Amino acid sequence: MKLDSTLEEQYEDVGNDHVSSSVDTPLRKDAFLLNDDEKINVIQKNVTEILLTLGLDLDDDSLKETPKRVAKMFVKEIFGGLHPNRKPKSSTFENKYKYGEMLVEKNITLYSTCEHHLLPIVGKAHVAYISKRTVIGLSKMNRIVDYYAKRPQVQERLNIQIVKELQKVLGTDDVACVIDAKHLCVNSRGIRDIDSSTVTAEYGGKFKEETTRREFLDYINLETNF
Ligand SMILES: [Zn+2]
Repeated sequence: MKLDSTLEEQYEDVGNDHVSSSVDTPLRKDAFLLNDDEKINVIQKNVTEILLTLGLDLDDDSLKETPKRVAKMFVKEIFGGLHPNRKPKSSTFENKYKYGEMLVEKNITLYSTCEHHLLPIVGKAHVAYISKRTVIGLSKMNRIVDYYAKRPQVQERLNIQIVKELQKVLGTDDVACVIDAKHLCVNSRGIRDIDSSTVTAEYGGKFKEETTRREFLDYINLETNF
């Protein structure tokens, strides 16, 4: 960070470098005082203000409903994972068949939003765990990825949040997640590097060991034709 830059410039640098300040999503204490409908109302007014400031004619048929549409999309869809009520109920089962090897759920499609620019992050998550006493429904892993992705995010934080949640639900440290994603704020603006993607990884428990990690990465690279 530059020493002579103003505070504003420093924050700008943090944003452009995609540095995350915390593992938990930074939420205010009053985050859920308003219900969804109340939030949609406030956001709708603010989006109207932004579009009017940009000089757009909101009487135009095509733009008329945009503030409402955007507000609903923020609250119910792309930032819906901020609300703890939407956290997927992770029903787990006893590991009856005593499967003690690695289970990998790969190529989970991931749509998130960069919290520094509010532009899309699009990619794939690969998640793995080694069961102790508990197993989890396969689709639940996709749902956990989706829940944490539906927040303003930083890829590293998203990666850690997915691993921590699975560790908690499964009662084991032996969980890993690799994310490979494109950030539209990098691809479509700023440096405009359309080909780059960002890979992050978080390894817990046995996945910190070279052989286990290698096995996981080999499964990810496995090319199966269906
Ligand atoms: Zn960004």
